[in-house]
Amino acid sequence: ENPSSFVGVPDTDYAEEEQRNEANLALQNVRQQLGRTYLPLINGEYVQTQQVVDSVNPSNFSEVVGKIALLSVEQAEQAMQAAKAAFPAWRKTPVKERAGILRKAADLMEQRRAELSVWIVLEVGKPVREADGEVSEAIDFCRYYASEMERLDQGFNYDVAGETNRYIYQPRGIAVVISPWNFPLAIATGMTVAALVTGNCTLLKPAETSSVIAAKLTEVLVDAGFPKGVFQYVPGKGSQVGAYLVNHAYTHVIAFTGSQEVGCRIYADAAILKPGQKHMKRVIAEMGGKNAIIVDESADLDSAVVGVVQSAFGYSGQKCSACSRVVVLEPVYDTFVQRFVEATKSLNIGETELPSTQVGPVIDANARDRIREYIEKGKAEAKVALEMPAPDNGYFIGPVIFKDVPANGVIAQEEIFGPVVAVIKVKNFKEALEVANGTNYALTGGLYSRTPSHIEKAQDEFEVGNLYINRNITGAIVARQPFGGFKLSGVGSKAGGPDYLLQFTEPRTVTENI
Ligand code: GLU
Repeated sequence: ENPSSFVGVPDTDYAEEEQRNEANLALQNVRQQLGRTYLPLINGEYVQTQQVVDSVNPSNFSEVVGKIALLSVEQAEQAMQAAKAAFPAWRKTPVKERAGILRKAADLMEQRRAELSVWIVLEVGKPVREADGEVSEAIDFCRYYASEMERLDQGFNYDVAGETNRYIYQPRGIAVVISPWNFPLAIATGMTVAALVTGNCTLLKPAETSSVIAAKLTEVLVDAGFPKGVFQYVPGKGSQVGAYLVNHAYTHVIAFTGSQEVGCRIYADAAILKPGQKHMKRVIAEMGGKNAIIVDESADLDSAVVGVVQSAFGYSGQKCSACSRVVVLEPVYDTFVQRFVEATKSLNIGETELPSTQVGPVIDANARDRIREYIEKGKAEAKVALEMPAPDNGYFIGPVIFKDVPANGVIAQEEIFGPVVAVIKVKNFKEALEVANGTNYALTGGLYSRTPSHIEKAQDEFEVGNLYINRNITGAIVARQPFGGFKLSGVGSKAGGPDYLLQFTEPRTVTENI
């Protein structure tokens, strides 16, 4: 199958009354289920734990979305043993069957999409339209990786007279997935089903603040038919359970999305051979970004303003793809800043269950405090063009735009992961590219321009994994914009792309004289 023929599932159309009603109903239903306890899934059983923590709604932190039972290191060890025991049979399960379970999972998510969106809205404070798009992405990952695995399963024949040569992909063994809270369903699903469909037994350790959604994904995967021990849900503390699993001698693959700090730690830990370990671990790490959009003097400012606002303040800037720097050429600088400020002022900030909300809260108190510190640092090195007020019943931060930011300033170099943008003025296009490339990251980037030579130069020299020209720089779609970066943005190949599954496999060549 030609991967480009893949067509993703459509998002909910909230303009349709019926779909709006379904969304409202889902909200009411989920509200009645708030505060339930979610248990880890080990070897096909939901098990009790000693430690239970609350997962709260960041829009209203007095509301407990669910209680998360965190597993202990001993229980993590039991899960590892169960994964090891389940591997021989899973490895032999035909690809058609494995792919069938992924397709079933996709269908179940499609049936539950309104409800799943609400869990995302309430647990991580994502506005409902974006939450809905995330459910689509999760569904697409299941269907796309199912067909991708069927493609890989065909292998290659390099036969010559008297000799057959088969090139095949076998599973690696046990995969540990450490998923982030910012795309709590899509990214957790993508990494997990990629590991599973390639034939690995998989343990999912979600970010603590999004463990209820991971528990919902667990329900889906169990209902879809993954056998016991093949998929396990292991919520716990990253520093404890996460580290234990990463360091385990049985672990073959670690798929991680999160901060650069944790990603670098995992990469280092995974390199150390543990007693009894007879293989090298593979690490796939999607880390941060400090993504820039360049606006040149020929840009259509109407679309540049819309694209920058969406890219910078969508999900309050908490996407590794988000725009956090705008590099603007001198001739259009003042006009752009003024229009960018005006457009941002019109955003609605508030609780994410309200359909009119465009900017919700940030994830938790730590994030809020860290972002506030960056805002203070920004005030010391640049001018505030806009600082919007925000409600205080949740972890809200109003959008902040800094202008005349020095290219090497703290807020122009460090990932803030919040609704804070640095606008940088440059003299010409050459300088714009130098500034855009002048960070440790290389994830997404954008250019607004109607000058063919600039567009061509950016394609060649703008060092990012995903370059977007004359559009917003977030919201990559499975099998259309395979997603991922390089430099210190990550290691491994792109999610939703044709090379992704290869990372979870071990290719073998079998030659036979005949
Ligand atoms: N794939 C997402 C996008 O294109 C970003 C993923 C992330 O933030 O980790 O917007």
